[in-house]
Amino acid sequence: MPSNEAQYVFPPELPSVAVADSPARFPVRRVYCVARNYADHAREMGHDPDREPPFFFAKHPDSLLPDGSVFPYPPGTKEVHHEIEMVVAIGKGGADIPAESALDHVFGYAVGLDMTRRDLQAEAKKAGRPWEIGKAFDHAAPCSAIVPASRIGHPGAGRIWLDVNGERRQEGDISSMIWSIPEVIAYLSGLFVLEPGDLIFTGTPAGVGPVARGDRLSGGVEGVGTLEITVGAR
Ligand code: MN
Repeated sequence: MPSNEAQYVFPPELPSVAVADSPARFPVRRVYCVARNYADHAREMGHDPDREPPFFFAKHPDSLLPDGSVFPYPPGTKEVHHEIEMVVAIGKGGADIPAESALDHVFGYAVGLDMTRRDLQAEAKKAGRPWEIGKAFDHAAPCSAIVPASRIGHPGAGRIWLDVNGERRQEGDISSMIWSIPEVIAYLSGLFVLEPGDLIFTGTPAGVGPVARGDRLSGGVEGVGTLEITVGAR
């Protein structure tokens, strides 16, 4: 019988991220990631950091993992790397958004980890294949609660860091992104229509490296917050 209520063949699950100090949750539509957005990281990966246009890949929204979780060591790999990143949460959609007004589209910010099966990504790069198996696996996107811009503004500078078992591994400053957040939003919205619920991982500074089962990863972005996960068995 026709009904106003949608009939699903099984209950749908909407991926979402916590909003800091609030019972509200941020429903996630898409997860975009910027590659090579810090010169020192581009160099450590063997690339020339000169301002080639930004490029993007995606992760699945259901691969988001909350702060404080165990990250299950993924299958099919012997080399899983950490990449600490600032995450932008889009609250207002648009296409062809000018950089000048791009920050009006931002709901808030979070701290994320772009977990990467580096060995599989390297094989894919060599073969000219998509990065998906290296980047878009289950639980590949740990992400802290989102802090609304209405509370913290739009941080354009500040330390970004990651410790593994209490030892500093990655350190940089978000002001040294090759493509600033307004520029990233402008580029991305020229390729895809952005909608509320989209997340953008904005790239990682130098110092990426492998994780092992039992490692405690703890990082943050000054002015935004912190994120901690433990690497577990599969
Ligand atoms: Mn990354």
